[in-house]
Amino acid sequence: MDLKSLIRDVPDFPKPGIVFKDITTLLNHAEGFRYCIDSMAEKVADLNVDYIVGMESRGFIFGTPLAYKMGVGFVPVRKPGKLPAHTHSIEYALEYGSDRLEIHQDAFHPGSRVLVIDDLIATGGTAAATAQLIEQTGSSLVGFGFIIELTFLEGRKNLPHVPIVSLLEY
Ligand code: AMP
Repeated sequence: MDLKSLIRDVPDFPKPGIVFKDITTLLNHAEGFRYCIDSMAEKVADLNVDYIVGMESRGFIFGTPLAYKMGVGFVPVRKPGKLPAHTHSIEYALEYGSDRLEIHQDAFHPGSRVLVIDDLIATGGTAAATAQLIEQTGSSLVGFGFIIELTFLEGRKNLPHVPIVSLLEY
């Protein structure tokens, strides 16, 4: 399965100079989407994961079917003010300004092994912030999985030293 052929490049979105990796053309391809989830499940199988964490909102799209396939729970990391119960919160830097992510304080059983899933790693800022949130809960981050890695941005240098799986490199 040539997954790269199912990712659409959209130049100058959302602003000039950015080549946006559009995953909707992968999602609407039944075989491609299934292959993508099955491949990720195989590559992370030996991490003995208890939970998948996905970041709003494209992390939900890949994280939930992966959790279903692996038979583990799914935990959403969300933008501020969306989660109803007590949260941990982390502020992180963007190119211009900053943003905030939240997780439920009681999302995991104590001592759980947690895998973070997102569609794409660029600078690694979002994934690094999510790692800090998991640390706040007291659970163990055991790996990251991304469908797409923009290797020229060297985002993995900003992540903690755990296994990092990416299906497609650019
Ligand atoms: P970063 O925090 O820089 O690693 O950015 C990661 C987040 O931004 C991911 O959740 C992506 O969905 C989104 N993102 C960043 N760059 C791109 C891109 N070139 N194409 C599509 N999504 C992107």
